[in-house]
Amino acid sequence: MALPQHFLDELLARTDIVELVSRYMPLKRKGGSMWGCCPFHHEKTPSFHVEQDKQFYKCFGCGEGGNAIQFLIKIENLPYIDAVRKLAEMAGMELPEEEDGGKSRLQRQRLLALNKDAARYYYDTLAGEKGREALQYLLNRGMTPQTIVRFGLGYAEDDWDSFLTAMRKKGYTDMELETAKLAGRTRNGKLYPFFRGRVMFPIIDIRGDVVAFGGRVIKGDGDGRKYINSSDTPVYSKSRTLYAMNLAKKSKAGRFILCEGNIDVIALHQAGFDSAVASCGTAFTAEQARLLSKYTSEVVICYDADAAGLKATEKAIDILKQNGLSVRVLRLPPKRDKQGKVLYDSEGRPQKVDPDDFIRQNGPEAFARLLDKPQTDGQYRMGEIRKKYTDLTDDQTRIAYVKEAAAYIATLPSPVEREVFAGTAAQETGLPVDSIRKEIDRIRAAKRRQQQRDFQKEAVQPEKQLQPKDWSLRYTDTRSAVAEEQLIAAILGDRELAEYTQVRLDPEQFSSSFLAKVYTLTCDRLDRDLDPDPAACMLQLEDNEIRLLTDILSRYEGKRQQKEQIADHIQTIQYQSQKRNAPADDAALLLEAVRRKQG
Ligand SMILES: [Zn+2]
Repeated sequence: MALPQHFLDELLARTDIVELVSRYMPLKRKGGSMWGCCPFHHEKTPSFHVEQDKQFYKCFGCGEGGNAIQFLIKIENLPYIDAVRKLAEMAGMELPEEEDGGKSRLQRQRLLALNKDAARYYYDTLAGEKGREALQYLLNRGMTPQTIVRFGLGYAEDDWDSFLTAMRKKGYTDMELETAKLAGRTRNGKLYPFFRGRVMFPIIDIRGDVVAFGGRVIKGDGDGRKYINSSDTPVYSKSRTLYAMNLAKKSKAGRFILCEGNIDVIALHQAGFDSAVASCGTAFTAEQARLLSKYTSEVVICYDADAAGLKATEKAIDILKQNGLSVRVLRLPPKRDKQGKVLYDSEGRPQKVDPDDFIRQNGPEAFARLLDKPQTDGQYRMGEIRKKYTDLTDDQTRIAYVKEAAAYIATLPSPVEREVFAGTAAQETGLPVDSIRKEIDRIRAAKRRQQQRDFQKEAVQPEKQLQPKDWSLRYTDTRSAVAEEQLIAAILGDRELAEYTQVRLDPEQFSSSFLAKVYTLTCDRLDRDLDPDPAACMLQLEDNEIRLLTDILSRYEGKRQQKEQIADHIQTIQYQSQKRNAPADDAALLLEAVRRKQG
């Protein structure tokens, strides 16, 4: 972390997390804290709460938690430094420039300038003599010159020197070229351009800066992959960026179209569907869903109809729904010959068509018609289940189909949806809808019983309930961990109790290395004459650690502990620590005692 601690302390002290969160969502007071519906997962009853005293937030539904900075990072989808900058602006503070914070901002500016110059270089190459073949390739794919300009497409020539020489001439260092992932090094340490012999797609973020590139080979690929993408750099995070989001965010379409690749996106934009975006060389992520949710409430998924595409579709549906977006799936019809007969591949599956092909063959109007009646995700899943069972006149197949369909329908929270799809399954099989309803109810009842059993099991095994969900943070000595958790919950935010503890307990006596770390951070603050603020301690923790800490703080929130209780915790921790460290001596003492008795 580049920013000085005193600056961050001041920033957090000047920020009120309740006020910050209220800018994004309504909060209602209930008991000692403020509650609302979680902005990070989809829910109807509030399980997201904000603690004003300790300046943190926590969702009991999805586990998200943290301080004001972490809230801003997640909700605005910002890199850490930008979130701090924004919060500083709100608090009327200036970022300390001379410190490392200034350095990283300068580096950012240099890298963005380099990317921009690289994009211009690739663009000029495409327009020049060396780019003739690449340009022809793009025109053959149906791209107009206007589209090529609009997306800033370019060409990286198949040569090891020209690009590097041009960038060095502009004053960029080899180090910068490497950091921007525009160049790599051979085993002998020689610098080489990362993209060669490829059509270049600059990736532009929502602020309009070129942050990365995708490159596609134009002929029989010598070095393997058809597409390659920049990996993450200080200015580019794959998982937070969507291709063409800079253009799509201005769209008036209302709904966004999520495609698989940048060529599909370009084809759609060219045909007038200007809200198309794609994730670049990565599976769709929750961060990308949150980015979309800032601009729209509806997403139409338009992935390939092959096995990989179907899997990716299901995953994207889940992620989008968890982020409160309504989702539909657009399925392009399979490829047909001139007589209108469906074409099959060598494995007997209908040949897939991508949006680019579809629009070229059928025109934008045909695509618009499909877009207007895409399937809801329920229809889509029911359709996928139906496809697995071809012959429904066969009794065995019919039963298997009803079982699988009912199992899916039983997971739907809405009774209306369940009723509609029960009707669909009845129609498909010719069975009475009542028998299908019964099957669904049976599955739901069984699931409820199972939940009940799980709940009871947890209730009789408190130590199991206490264990952190993250396996890497699990407690080895639960008796001590209970005391450690309560102690941490009490001293964070209470200077008197923290000072009382500090003179009596060493971090080494903790059984959990995570809780020992939090305790060490607390003591460090006391040593520097600072209050033991939980929000400030969170700045030094990893994401999974913040989750656990906010979990603990929420669990004990409002339960004020007295010095006597703190003394008890300290005693338990010390006792357990001795027991762990001297098991052999204990055994020896016990043996000795037994001997004495016998003697
Ligand atoms: Zn949540």
